[in-house]
Amino acid sequence: MFADLHLHTHFSDGTFSPEEVAKRAWKAGLSALALTDHDTVDGCQRMVAACVEKGIEFIPGCEFTVEQGGHELHLLGYCFNLEDVDLQAALLKYQEVRRNRVHEMVVRLNGLGIPLKVERVLELADCRAPGRPHVGRALVEGGHCYNLDEAFRRYLKRGRPAWAPKAKMSVAVAIELIHGAGGVAVMAHPGITRMNEVIPDLVAVGLDGLECFYTRHSTAMTEYYLMCAERHGLLVTGGSDCHGDSKGEPLIGRVKLPYEFVGKLKSAAGAMV
Ligand code: AMP
Ligand code: ZN
Ligand code: FE
Ligand code: FE
Repeated sequence: MFADLHLHTHFSDGTFSPEEVAKRAWKAGLSALALTDHDTVDGCQRMVAACVEKGIEFIPGCEFTVEQGGHELHLLGYCFNLEDVDLQAALLKYQEVRRNRVHEMVVRLNGLGIPLKVERVLELADCRAPGRPHVGRALVEGGHCYNLDEAFRRYLKRGRPAWAPKAKMSVAVAIELIHGAGGVAVMAHPGITRMNEVIPDLVAVGLDGLECFYTRHSTAMTEYYLMCAERHGLLVTGGSDCHGDSKGEPLIGRVKLPYEFVGKLKSAAGAMV
């Protein structure tokens, strides 16, 4: 039995619906999946129903954009109460930050002579967590870029002219929120984030796990983070980070996390409540 614990839908910047994700998870032979859209849990309700239909276990999740020492990192929350009032309020606040940032990026693009409209970006995003990929899609649609990758390279990457910073929750606050909602907090794709030196600090503020298995982790990286998890007494998770078909072949099921790790994750969350 295997799981994929890192998946996005069109409720953030993925292209698949929850139903499409469940269908593909079933085809890939997965027993469990977690939906981890960026800064929203809006897709979870439909994902629950879609998973029931396919006989797949659903794990509630969310990928929080947080910061530690001025640097952005992604924190995966799992097995928390989706109805938690404090968590919902924090997400609403953060979604507003995302909308304001879209405005800021569009103003910058307009300043470069690109006549993009905020309304069109938000329409294309059609979700409460709009971000750079949606600005990128609007750039491609308007014929200003050939594809999403070019949009990031020319305009949207950090340091490029349309990039705008975004206010982020501190990692300690986010972990507190996740714990308060009965969940566990996991550092996403540590091999991509490359902030190994902060792992002890994250552990000190309550980090519960490391995403050791990840599409773009080399075998050496996976082994390193498994060792790191063992040393710090952390849970081990894994997922593909599938965003649908926006980046070529869908990644869902590319990472097959042995189910025993899901069992440990659930037990840890159960012990938290
Ligand atoms: P944001 O959260 O608005 O800063 O956007 C970050 C998201 O953009 C990431 O989660 C990725 O899904 C996506 N992304 C980052 N770099 C690229 C790229 N070069 N091409 C396509 N998508 C990207
Ligand atoms: Zn994304
Ligand atoms: Fe991420
Ligand atoms: Fe992700």
